[in-house]
Parts: sequence; C-alpha cells; structure tokens
Amino acid sequence: MKAPISEIFSSIQGEGILIGRRQIFVRFSGCNLDCIYCDTLDSEDKDHENVLTTANVVNKINELITPDLHSISFTGGEPTLYPEFINKVIHEINIKTKIKALLETNGSLYKQINLLNNIDYASMDIKLPEHFNRWNSDIFENELKSIEILMEKKVKVYCKIVVLPSTKINKLEEVVMKLSKKISNNNVPLIIQPSSPINYWKGKEKKILKLSEICGKHMDVLTIPQVHKYLGVD
Ligand code: SF4
Repeated sequence: MKAPISEIFSSIQGEGILIGRRQIFVRFSGCNLDCIYCDTLDSEDKDHENVLTTANVVNKINELITPDLHSISFTGGEPTLYPEFINKVIHEINIKTKIKALLETNGSLYKQINLLNNIDYASMDIKLPEHFNRWNSDIFENELKSIEILMEKKVKVYCKIVVLPSTKINKLEEVVMKLSKKISNNNVPLIIQPSSPINYWKGKEKKILKLSEICGKHMDVLTIPQVHKYLGVD
C-alpha cells in the first residue's frame, strides 16, 4: 500500500493540548480544501513525487524514535485522504511497541474518519467561512459529523479554530455555539489559535482576549499560538 508523503520528521508539537510533546510527524501530501492561511502549501499537491509504502514509513518512524517520544502525528495536507494506509502503519508499529497516535485533520471527510482505527487523539481544525475565498457550509456540517464519530470511537478530541485579526466575533460565536451543542457533556476543549506570524496582531492584542471571552461562554477554551515557530523547529 502506498501514499504520497511530503516529509517524516521528529519535532515538538507546537499546537493544541499536546503542546510541548515530542512527536514524529508523518505529513501527507494533498488536501481537499484550500484555506487562505495554509502554511503547508507543498502538502496541497496531490501529485507529490514522494510516494512511500507503509513499510517505508514504519522503518523511518523506527529510525526516529527517541526516549522522550509521546506519539505519532498523522498530519498534512489532509491525512484522512488515506485512512487504510494510516491503519496499516499504526498496526505495524504497534506489533512491537504501543505508540499513541494523533490525527490532525480538517474533519471534512467524515466517511474516511469512520474508517480509522486505533487513533488516540484527534485535533479537529474547525473552519470558518473567512478561511476560504469560497465557503461551502457542508464543511462545518461534516466536521460536526466527524466529531460525533470520533467521540463514539472514544478518541480524545479537541477542536482548534485559527483566528485572524479580521475574524468576525459574531460569526465565531455562532460556530462555537453549534459546536458546544454537538459535544454536550463530552470533555472537548477548544483551542483558539491566533494566526501566524504573531506580529500581525500588534496593536490588536485585546481582540485575542475578547475572542477567548466569547468562546469561553460556550466551551472550555485555551488560547495558544503556534509555539514551534518560537522554538525555531518544524
Ligand atoms: S485544511 Fe489544512 S492543509 Fe488543507 S488547505 Fe486548509 S490549512 Fe492547508
């Protein structure tokens, strides 16, 4: 079995609730969306030349294991384009040693998410209309379905929303209210991630506090920028 992989590397997780954890990142090429703030442009190319087998990926992961390793992040691009490939990699790694798996997904491909097994954590990147030149409301509805599926699979889910200096507070609140209804009593935190680079926020720092307050009315909220960029690591 093969999939296009743009890179496999060891680094420190700089986003979400696993921030600071040492991870091995398996970055898939190709994405079904085209967000205006995308910082992994090479991963949008589905025709990426670096097509690897599951054995190639497992071997590389084994080479990169360090004593502080917490988990493997399947990221992109959009990793759920390749659910069977991910299942096989996790299965082959865990034959020898159980290593936890994080899925970093835009959540819009809920049928693919339903095919995934043995995921421990999922970072669900909730999209706002402003993230696109052309918005399709199915994206959000499909993300809600994905959250439901992952919760049923007992995956520890957290949501992440990238906010921009131009983010409209009322639009954000509308989305967060719908999200909070979906998760009801489940413990799903929301990460507000100010867009990078952080100097775009100079003079607008109070807006970050306001966005946190609005989201905090409905969900358990944390505000975390992309910390790996401060550390100078990938
Ligand atoms: S979902 Fe992620 S990888 Fe895909 S375009 Fe948006 S930011 Fe880029």
